[in-house]
Amino acid sequence: MAAQILVVEDEPAIQELVAVNLTRAGHDVIRAADAETALRLVREALPDLVLLDWMLPGMSGVELARRLRTEERTRAVPIIMLTARGAEQDKVAGLELGADDYVTKPFSTRELLARIKAVLRRRAPEATEDAVEVGGLRLDPATHRVTAGGAPVTLGPTEFRLLHFLMTHPERVHSRAQLLDQVWGDHVFVEERTVDVHIRRLRSALEATGHDALVQTVRGAGYRFSAQTVG
Ligand code: CA
Repeated sequence: MAAQILVVEDEPAIQELVAVNLTRAGHDVIRAADAETALRLVREALPDLVLLDWMLPGMSGVELARRLRTEERTRAVPIIMLTARGAEQDKVAGLELGADDYVTKPFSTRELLARIKAVLRRRAPEATEDAVEVGGLRLDPATHRVTAGGAPVTLGPTEFRLLHFLMTHPERVHSRAQLLDQVWGDHVFVEERTVDVHIRRLRSALEATGHDALVQTVRGAGYRFSAQTVG
């Protein structure tokens, strides 16, 4: 599964270089040359990660990062700051604002990709291609295969994404609204009841091996993926 990355960079040559390399690495790239455009794009659809230049015309990258961290909807989006400055105080300021990492120009494509991968793994594991395994249930995003106790499980595309999100965010309660945001994508008009329908399909696909017990209902709150039995 490729990550959707918003590249906010006003220097056309750097923007192009970064976008081409991220696309080549399998990511889905959206571009903005200024913070105002970036904000508009983020309002349309929340990316998996924002690669943000420090020095931008108009609103600065730092100010954009601050705004993203202030708004409830964009608070958790991973941010990597790009900057030509090597000054320690800028790095500290960027990290204090909530940037997840910091890359100083000039940087190598390899370094940038490694940083992106590390941040995604930490902040949005569902956007990486890493296989996940819990209690004999294994999901591999690269091959799009799910097995339970070694036996193949057939899932529809929505059930696959739902299971991937749940498995990469275990032991937490997710409300229906949160699942809609994360699995269906925000700004998608779907009733919350839809979540229940797909949870039911997912459980029924996992029932044969007893792995349906991993997908738990938390009354009045939502759903939780847990290897621990419900008390
Ligand atoms: Ca710049």
